[in-house]
Amino acid sequence: MSELRFNELRGEEVVYAIHRQERTFLPSREHCPLDATRPGGPQTEIPFPSFEIAVFDNRFPAFESPLGAAEVVVYTDQHDGSFGSLEPQRAEALMWVWRHRYMELGAREDIDYVMIFENRGVEVGVTLHHPHGQIYGYPFLPPIPALEQEADLRLGGCAPCTLMKRELEDARRIVHQNESVVAYVPYAARWAFEVHVVMSEHRPSLLACQAAELRDLAQALQAIARGYDALFDRPFPYVMVVHQAPTTAAAADGHLHVEFYPPLRTADKLKYLAGSEQGAGTFISDTLPEESAGMLREAIARAA
Ligand SMILES: [Zn+2]
Ligand SMILES: [Zn+2]
Ligand SMILES: [Zn+2]
Repeated sequence: MSELRFNELRGEEVVYAIHRQERTFLPSREHCPLDATRPGGPQTEIPFPSFEIAVFDNRFPAFESPLGAAEVVVYTDQHDGSFGSLEPQRAEALMWVWRHRYMELGAREDIDYVMIFENRGVEVGVTLHHPHGQIYGYPFLPPIPALEQEADLRLGGCAPCTLMKRELEDARRIVHQNESVVAYVPYAARWAFEVHVVMSEHRPSLLACQAAELRDLAQALQAIARGYDALFDRPFPYVMVVHQAPTTAAAADGHLHVEFYPPLRTADKLKYLAGSEQGAGTFISDTLPEESAGMLREAIARAA
């Protein structure tokens, strides 16, 4: 069981999940726990000879019932590949799986915030290469979604709606667009190639989306992921996070968007969080969002 401690100086919760120390770390190809269990082969986490998308409780959870949840979402039974290289129909089906998990976990009384995410690449601490993501159900509202709610107050309305409109007017940082979704490197991005993929209409969560919007969202997310790989012609590490309305008892608003935080600033240089970022909370970047957006826009077009 994890322990929660409130860090008074920061005004935030810290989670101690010490059992996670024993978790599986980069197992060999033959011992992948996210493969299907093939007849005569080793028992994996998924007791079926094949599957499309699998969801199960994380065996090394940061959160567990009755104080939150931690789930693993395996995108495919194919070990090699990535979110970006999934068949489009599979990526679209994944949006429906996300939607269902958001609904089910969000309905639980002990869960105030459902966060769907993917860590990709050893640079961001990935311990299993098989294409997969995770879902955390937090028993409290974490600081970043809380800050986004404060932005709504500061801007006198939905912050993602306002910021997306500004990006569309400016247009220099837009990297991809389809009928339902706008993707851009934000005006004040923290990471060189940070991208926000935002629903064009105000949709608090996946539950409020129509089928065509879910398909368009999947298309845009894959376009970004493939563009990243094309950018420096190498698998591009990132953290991908789905932000939606909190699921607290009191009805809270939100605006569905997906944020990508890639740690690379050039083909072989990582951005480290150092003195200013860690000690002052102020990001210092050596590239302008307009410039990286131009590079990324070309890479996305190239990879399409
Ligand atoms: Zn595998
Ligand atoms: Zn909005
Ligand atoms: Zn956000």
